[in-house]
Amino acid sequence: MKTDYLILGSGLAGLSFGALMAKAGKKVTILEAHDCPGGYGHTFAEGTSYKFNAQFHYVWNCGEGRVVHNFLKKLNLHQEVTFERYDPNGYDHMRMPGYALDIPGDLKLLTQRLQGLFPCHAEAIAKFIAEVEHTADALDKLPSSLSPGYLLSNPGDSYHLFKYRHATLQQVFDQFQLPLAAQTLLALQWPDFMLPPRDLSFFGWAVLFIGYCRGAYYPTKHFEHVINSLVKTILDNGGEIFYQQKINQFIRNGKTICGVAAEDLNSGKSSEYFGQDVICNIDPKKAAEMIGFEHFSSSVQRKLLYDYSPSNFMAYCVVKDLDLRDYGFGRWNLFHSEQQDLNQAFDEMYLRGDYSKPSFVITTPSLLTDDHSDCPEGHQIIEFLTVANYDRFHDLKISDAAQYRNKKKEIFNAIIAVVERDYIPEFSRHLVFKMTGSPTTNQRFCGSPAGNSYGSNLTPKNLSRHRLDCRTSLEHFYFCNASSGFPGFTGTIKTGSMLYEHLSADLFINSN
Ligand SMILES: Cc1cc2nc3c(=O)[nH]c(=O)nc-3n(C[C@H](O)[C@H](O)[C@H](O)COP(=O)(O)OP(=O)(O)OC[C@H]3O[C@@H](n4cnc5c(N)ncnc54)[C@H](O)[C@@H]3O)c2cc1C
Repeated sequence: MKTDYLILGSGLAGLSFGALMAKAGKKVTILEAHDCPGGYGHTFAEGTSYKFNAQFHYVWNCGEGRVVHNFLKKLNLHQEVTFERYDPNGYDHMRMPGYALDIPGDLKLLTQRLQGLFPCHAEAIAKFIAEVEHTADALDKLPSSLSPGYLLSNPGDSYHLFKYRHATLQQVFDQFQLPLAAQTLLALQWPDFMLPPRDLSFFGWAVLFIGYCRGAYYPTKHFEHVINSLVKTILDNGGEIFYQQKINQFIRNGKTICGVAAEDLNSGKSSEYFGQDVICNIDPKKAAEMIGFEHFSSSVQRKLLYDYSPSNFMAYCVVKDLDLRDYGFGRWNLFHSEQQDLNQAFDEMYLRGDYSKPSFVITTPSLLTDDHSDCPEGHQIIEFLTVANYDRFHDLKISDAAQYRNKKKEIFNAIIAVVERDYIPEFSRHLVFKMTGSPTTNQRFCGSPAGNSYGSNLTPKNLSRHRLDCRTSLEHFYFCNASSGFPGFTGTIKTGSMLYEHLSADLFINSN
């Protein structure tokens, strides 16, 4: 029987859409190349002892009336899938030699803390923070289809959106003449975008920064439970998910995409699958390459010309007989930079592969919830993340496996040297498990082109009003991925929900 919605990929955008449609009584079939669901949000186990989420660390917009809550309520999961709030007095701890700033949820308090550090720039700091808040609010209120009437009736918001539509974070820092150290403390969560201020869209930064200020969260029962709850909703409502099915061909009839051919990665057997509508959670550009760009309208072809977000290095670690809370860790992330100029720090690591003065983030999932099902008693999970260049790792991997492993070791050792110097002197002595992931790991397990971190690069060009959305110009075929909507946990839930709204006319995601 032909399914109503054939969904290609079980990343969070695809799962969100699938769960909503299944709950609404539609027949949903998901094909996934990996052996588990969730895409970048999948959880992997090491033996019977430890569980790590591949990429998610913290999320936002989970409070009542916000996107994640509205979505879970629609699925009647809001009491089952709950979240723990990060410390509102400092959810991100920013550290660099000579400076420390804990970012609080309260913007007035943030302004005061920054003014205390940079008293000569008190006025510029207050104005900058107000501008960021106004911009984020204007973007939040923006309807999905802009009308001249909306712009005219909201002149203040429209002015902000017009003024900063091409701006990078660096350009706005410069406009307000913030001192370099203040810029760095504010932008130290650059790994949340995998871009330095020079390249990062001001809009992208403002939305996320203000979003986290209003509430940074971690799931009470870990990310695995969120993903499993969506899978359960799909299966309980008659849907099906087939794993290790690698799509390698689209079946097209003129302008209509009718289905796909997929290889079973276990048996090597190829099968065809058909759907009334085909929903593409695979990277849109990668899918378009399989279909042939010439079949898309010229407008969609232009939107598909995005570049990818830089890739990353992850270290998943477990320490034993050591309480990270005794070393300044808690319900927050710690972002560290060895040097003040983040643009330079980024270039050294990303372009030159030089990690001698690293900038990175430390997250401690074990301290974010009282559910310790992810590791045994007496153990705690701690993870490290920074940028890494896909081409460098890819070339090493195919030319010299030992050098590939050495490069991973080099990055890990550079980070740990700083950790032992500044935070946890005996870290290595307590380290009982370590696994590192490189750009090629992302590509291998999640099928992400060039191991990209956030889909299309989060530059002003890619985050413009010409951004790709669900519409493909082909019939019965829709994009549903971070690069055709919004990246991140909240962003991909919103992307899947908006496609559901588009196809069902059942509007709920923005209700509050
Ligand atoms: C290091 C890192 C840290 C991050 N941290 C956070 C964070 O703290 N908070 C946050 O909100 N976001 C974070 N993100 C971003 C977030 O993980 C992603 O934006 C989001 O998960 C993307 O979801 P998606 O549904 O668009 O696609 P994906 O998760 O990429 O899913 C696509 C799916 O398609 C499948 N697929 C691909 N090709 C094929 C094929 N040919 N056949 C079959 N299946 C295929 C893949 O296996 C995958 O399951 C992070 C990302 C990275 C890389």
